[in-house]
Amino acid sequence: MSDSKDLLAKISGSSSDNEYFLPLPTGYQKGKTKYVIVMGTVMSGLGKGIFSSCLAKLLQDKGLKVAPIKLEGYLNIDSGTLNPFRHGEVFVLDDGMECDMDLGTYERMLDQNLCKQNFATSGQIYNSVLEKERHGDYLGRDVQMIPHVTGEVKMRLRELAVSSDADVVFVEIGGTVGDLENAFYIEAIRELAYEEGPNSCCFVALTYILEPRTLGEQKSKAAQLGIKQLLQLGIQPDIIACRCEHPVTEQARQKMSVFGNVPFERVFSMHDSASIYSIPAMLRDGGLDFEVLRMLKIEDRIKLRHERKEWSRWCDFTDKINKETHEVCIGITGKYTSVRDSYASILNALEHAGIHLASRVRVEWIDTTNVTDANVAEYLKDVDGIIVPGGFGTRGWEGKIACVRYARQNDVPYLGLCLGFQAAVIEFARNVCGISKANSTEVEQDCPNPVISILPEQKKIEGLGGNMRLGGRDIEVKKDTLAWKFFGKVGSVRLRFRHRYEVDPEYITQLEEKGLVFSGKAPNQPIMQILELGEHSFFMGTQSHPELTSRPMRPAPMFVGLVAAARKRKYPDSKMDEPLAVVEKVRSF
Ligand code: GLN
Repeated sequence: MSDSKDLLAKISGSSSDNEYFLPLPTGYQKGKTKYVIVMGTVMSGLGKGIFSSCLAKLLQDKGLKVAPIKLEGYLNIDSGTLNPFRHGEVFVLDDGMECDMDLGTYERMLDQNLCKQNFATSGQIYNSVLEKERHGDYLGRDVQMIPHVTGEVKMRLRELAVSSDADVVFVEIGGTVGDLENAFYIEAIRELAYEEGPNSCCFVALTYILEPRTLGEQKSKAAQLGIKQLLQLGIQPDIIACRCEHPVTEQARQKMSVFGNVPFERVFSMHDSASIYSIPAMLRDGGLDFEVLRMLKIEDRIKLRHERKEWSRWCDFTDKINKETHEVCIGITGKYTSVRDSYASILNALEHAGIHLASRVRVEWIDTTNVTDANVAEYLKDVDGIIVPGGFGTRGWEGKIACVRYARQNDVPYLGLCLGFQAAVIEFARNVCGISKANSTEVEQDCPNPVISILPEQKKIEGLGGNMRLGGRDIEVKKDTLAWKFFGKVGSVRLRFRHRYEVDPEYITQLEEKGLVFSGKAPNQPIMQILELGEHSFFMGTQSHPELTSRPMRPAPMFVGLVAAARKRKYPDSKMDEPLAVVEKVRSF
C-alpha cells in the first residue's frame, strides 16, 4: 500500500487470470477526488444526512466542490413505491428521481440541485450487476458479492467523482453498521480506501451516547460496541461524531477516543439543536472542517476569502433563528398526521419562511377523516393559515374539500399543494360554478363531472402511460397575477412535480369565468399548474411541490406568502409588510 498509485495502475488492468477486479470510469483521475464516508452505529435515525450535509457545507463554503451520495440498503430501485408513513417523505429531484428525504437535506444545506447519480439503492446495484452478467461482461467468471457487487458500488462512487468533478464526495451509508443489507457497502468502501491509498478517505462513525434519566450521566458503552463492530469489518474510523441530547462530556469523549483508537480532538459532540441550520456552526466551532481537510491533505485547495464571504452570509441568516417576535399557527391537513418525516420538506419550507418573517410557525395537524362542512369551523378555529398537502388515495378527501371551502369563504390564508390544488379546483367547481357532481377520478372513477382526471392526450404527449409526471418542469406564469409578482416577473419558473391527475381543460373556461385564476400553466400543454383567487387575502394552489425547492436563504415565495398572510390575519393592527413586499425583500436578500 506504500505506493497506491502503482496499485491502482496494476489492478485496473485486471483480467480473468488474477484476483483483482477494478473497472474504473473513463476520465477517473486518482487523487483528484477525496471521499468522506459517514456510517451510523448503535441505531438508525441519528441524522447521518444532517451531519454529512453540514460538514459538506463547511467545505463547500471554503470553495471546494462537493457531491453527496446516499447508499440505501433496500432492494427497491427508488423510493417511489415506499410508504411515507414508514420511511419519511419521497423527495423528488429535478431529473425526476424519487429518492430518500436525506437528499432534500443535502439540497437545502448545500443550495445545490442533485440528480440520480446522487442516490443508489441495493436494488439498483444488483440490477446493474445482473444486467452486466446477462451481457457477458464478466468474462466467464462466477459473479460474486466480492468483487463484483462491491465493484459496482465503487464504480458508482467513482462515476460520481468524474461527473461532478468534486473535490470531495460525501458517501452516506444508510441504516446501521451490522445490518446485513448494508454490509456490502461497508466492504466496498474498505476496498475503496485500500485502492485509493492513504489520505484519500475519511471515515466518520456517527454514534449515540445514552443518557438514561435514571442515571443522570452519559453512558458510552453502546457507542463503544458500535465502533468495535466497525473495526471488526476492517474500518478504523478517523472521526467519531457523538449524537446526544446534551453536549457530550469530556469524559465520555475520552472513553470514545481510547476505545475507538481515535485521537481525542477528532471525537466531536453533535448534541441536539433547535434548528438544523445551527449545526454547521457547532461543527465548525469544534474544528471538524480543518481536521477533515488535514486528513485528506487538501488544505491547499481552499479559498479563505470565499469562505469569509459565504460564512458571513450564512451567519446573517442563522442569526435570525430563535429571534422570532410572533407566532402563527398553520393547520396542515394530512393523512400521515402522526409522522413529521412524511412532511419534512413542508416543515422546512415553513421554517425558512418563518425565519425570514421573524415568525415562529407552529403546526397543527388536522386529520380530515371526520371533517365536514358542519364541523370544519371547530377543527380550524385556532389556525391562521391552512395547507392541504400532497397525497394519494381517497381517505379524508371530502374533509379536505370542506377545509378549502372554509378557507375560501372565511378569508383564511390557503396554500394547496398538488392534491391540495386539486381539492381547491373541485371545491370551486362545486360551490362557485355549481357543478355539484364535480370530483377527481382518483376518488370517484365514474364521476359525472371529472374536473380532475387523467387525460388521454396528456398520456400520449408525455409518453408516460399511466405513470406519474415527475421532476422539474417549467411553468409559464400569467402576467399581472400574484404568481407573476412572486416569481420575479420573469414569465416562467421551474418547480417539481409528482402527480398523475390534473385539471380537465374542458372545464377551464367555466372555472375562469367565475373568478378562478390559473396563473401558471405548462408552456406547451393545457396543464394548469398554479391557481389563485383575486378577492382573497391569500389563496393559492399549485399542482407542483414548491416545498421541495425551498432553501434556507431562498425560501419558496408561496410559503412566504402564506406565512405573511397568516401573520397579517393574526396581528391585523401591527405594522407589517404585505406578503408581496416580504417576498421581494427575501428575493433580493
Ligand atoms: N394523487 C394526486 C395525483 O396523483 C396528487 C399527487 C400529489 O399530491 N403528489 O395527481
